[in-house]
Amino acid sequence: MSYVDEVIQRVIDKNPAQPEFHQAVREVLESLRVVIEANEDAFRREALLERLTEPERQFIFRVPWVDDQGNVQVNTGYRVQFNSAIGPYKGGLRLHPSVNLGIIKFLGFEQVFKNSLTGLPIGGGKGGSDFDPKGKSDREIMAFCQSFMTELCKHIGADTDVPAGDIGTGAREIGYLFGQYKRIRGVYEGVLTGKGLSYGGSLARTEATGYGLLYLISEMLKLNGKDIAGKVVAISGSGNVAIYAAEKAFQMGAKVVTMSDSTGWIYDAEGIDLDAIKEIKEVKRERLSTYKNYRPNAEYHEGRGVWSVKVDIALPCATQNELHLEDAKQLVANGCFAVAEGANMPTTLEATEYLQENGILFAPGKAANAGGVATSALEMSQNSERLSWTFEEVDAKLKNIMINICHNMADAAKRYGAEGNYVVGANIAGFEKVVDAMTAQGIV
Ligand code: NDP
Repeated sequence: MSYVDEVIQRVIDKNPAQPEFHQAVREVLESLRVVIEANEDAFRREALLERLTEPERQFIFRVPWVDDQGNVQVNTGYRVQFNSAIGPYKGGLRLHPSVNLGIIKFLGFEQVFKNSLTGLPIGGGKGGSDFDPKGKSDREIMAFCQSFMTELCKHIGADTDVPAGDIGTGAREIGYLFGQYKRIRGVYEGVLTGKGLSYGGSLARTEATGYGLLYLISEMLKLNGKDIAGKVVAISGSGNVAIYAAEKAFQMGAKVVTMSDSTGWIYDAEGIDLDAIKEIKEVKRERLSTYKNYRPNAEYHEGRGVWSVKVDIALPCATQNELHLEDAKQLVANGCFAVAEGANMPTTLEATEYLQENGILFAPGKAANAGGVATSALEMSQNSERLSWTFEEVDAKLKNIMINICHNMADAAKRYGAEGNYVVGANIAGFEKVVDAMTAQGIV
C-alpha cells in the first residue's frame, strides 16, 4: 500500500465517526500524492504524514452556564492546537449545534495549510462549541462566553494560540471572550483577533474574507484571460463572508443575483440590494424571507437551490458540503466558468472533481478565503506594535497577500505538472513550507 493510502486508512481507523476530518485529510493527501511519492522514503522514515494528521494537542471541556430562566445549561467546548511549525496556533472558534470534535479537527487541519499559504508566521488550530447563539439573549451569550473562556484561557496566549471568530462567533462574542480573558489572566494582549476597533481590532478585518475572496478570484480570472467586470455571480450564505464578498463583487463591476441562509435563498435578477441584506442580517438578525419586503420583485425559495440559477461565477460562502454533485452539474450546464470557495470545504469531493473535469476554474477555500486569517495576522502585528494601521493600509496588504497566494498556487501546480489545478497547487504550496519547518525542527 502506498504511504498516502496507509495514512488515510490510519486516520479513518484511529478517528471513527469523524467523516469531515477523513474528508479533509483525504482531499489534502490525495492532491499531495505526487509530492509525497517523490519523497516517500524520507517522509515515511520521519513519520511525517502521521505527525501532520495528529494534532499537537486537543482540549475538550465542560461549559456550564445559566439561562434566563435560571436553568443550568451544559455545552462542550473544544480547542484543537493542530500544528505550530511556522507560528503560534491561529484559527477561529465556531459556535453552532453541529460542532463536534471531527468538525473542529477538519477545520484545524485545513487551517494549517491555509495559514502557511498566506506567507505569514501562523500555525493552525481551531475551536468552538455546540452552543447555539441563535435566539439567545445578550446576557445568555455573555454567560456562555465567560464560562467558555474560563477554561480556554489556560491554554491560549498572544504568543502561543490566538483564536478568532467563525460561524456564530462575531464581534459581540469576541468582546465577551476578550473581557473574560483579561479579567482572569490580568494581561492586556492580542490573544484574540476580530476584536472591536476600540480595544485592539484591525480596520478591514470585518471585510477581509469576502474582499480577499474577490481579490483572489479576480487575479485567477486575469491569469486565464478573463475579467470579473460585467459577470453575473451566485453567492450562498448571507453572513460575514457572503456580505463582504458581495460588496466587493459589486465594487468590481460584477452583479450578484443570489444569496441564502439556512432556511432558504433569494434570486434578484436586478442585483441583490446589499443595504437590505445588511439590515436584515447584521441589524435585525432576521430570516432572508423578509427580503421580499424590500424588493417585491425578487424571488424567495425555501430550502436548497441557490446553484440552480444561470451565472458566470459561483461563490459558496455559507458552510461545509453545501455544493453537491447535482449542483455542480447544474452550474456547468448553465455555463458557469469559475467557482471560488468563500466557506471552508463547501464543495463536496465529487462536486469538486466534476467541476475540474469540466474545465471550471476552481479556487479551494484554503486559498480563496485565506484573507480572513491573513488580516487576523495583521491584527496580531498591530497589537504587538501597539499601533493601528489605516483601512487603506490593511486593505492594500490584504490585496497583495491574495494576489501572491493566487500566483503561488498557480506556480506550484505548474511545477508538479498539474497546470490550472488550483486544489493541487494550494495544497502543495501550503504543505512545502510546513514540511520544511517541521523537518528543520526535528521529531517533535
Ligand atoms: P456567519 O455565521 O456570519 O454566516 C454563515 C452563513 O451561512 C449564514 O447566512 C447562515 O445562515 C448560513 N448557513 C449556516 N449553516 C448553513 C446550512 N447548513 N445551510 C445553509 N446555510 C447555512 O459565518 P461566516 O460568514 O463567518 O462563515 C461562513 C463560512 O466561511 C464558514 O465555512 C467559515 O468557516 C468560513 N470562513 C469564515 C471566515 C471569516 O472571517 N468569517 C474566514 C474563513 C472562512 P443563517 O443566517 O440562517 O444562520
